Amino acid sequence: MSCQYDWKSYALGEMDRSARREAEAHANACPACREELASTRLTLDALSTLREEEIPRRIAFVSDQIFEPRWYQRAFRSLWSPNFAAACVVAGAILFHAFRGTPDQAVVNAQIDAAVSKAVAVEDARYAEQFERLASQVNARSEVFTRTVNREVRQ
Ligand SMILES: [Zn+2]
Repeated sequence: MSCQYDWKSYALGEMDRSARREAEAHANACPACREELASTRLTLDALSTLREEEIPRRIAFVSDQIFEPRWYQRAFRSLWSPNFAAACVVAGAILFHAFRGTPDQAVVNAQIDAAVSKAVAVEDARYAEQFERLASQVNARSEVFTRTVNREVRQ
């Protein structure tokens, strides 16, 4: 439970000097607010880490509209993805063979679908891996922070 202090504003440096001092004095005396400030900082820290990385699309979608890349940026990135390029090459090769030999549209479509699904699966795995990596970084920082706080409390 917080005590009416806006720790997000505090952590972002948005408070004026007197409000800041008052909040600091309160946090020194109130473990609940200290904890809330710590978790707010961790969240902001995690968000800034995400901003520095190439933001996984799904996280960007759920977290904030601001992080959502414009449609043309997304299109640009998709076109430059090696997996998408590979899928195009495969699809092109399938089409080429299809038009030379016996064109069976259903078979061609199935082959193109399979190639595209495979490319998408690879891309999804890449994003999942990236997310795992970021999550473990945040956890590691959280552990360091907890250890530091515990050490300070014991002294
Ligand atoms: Zn408090």
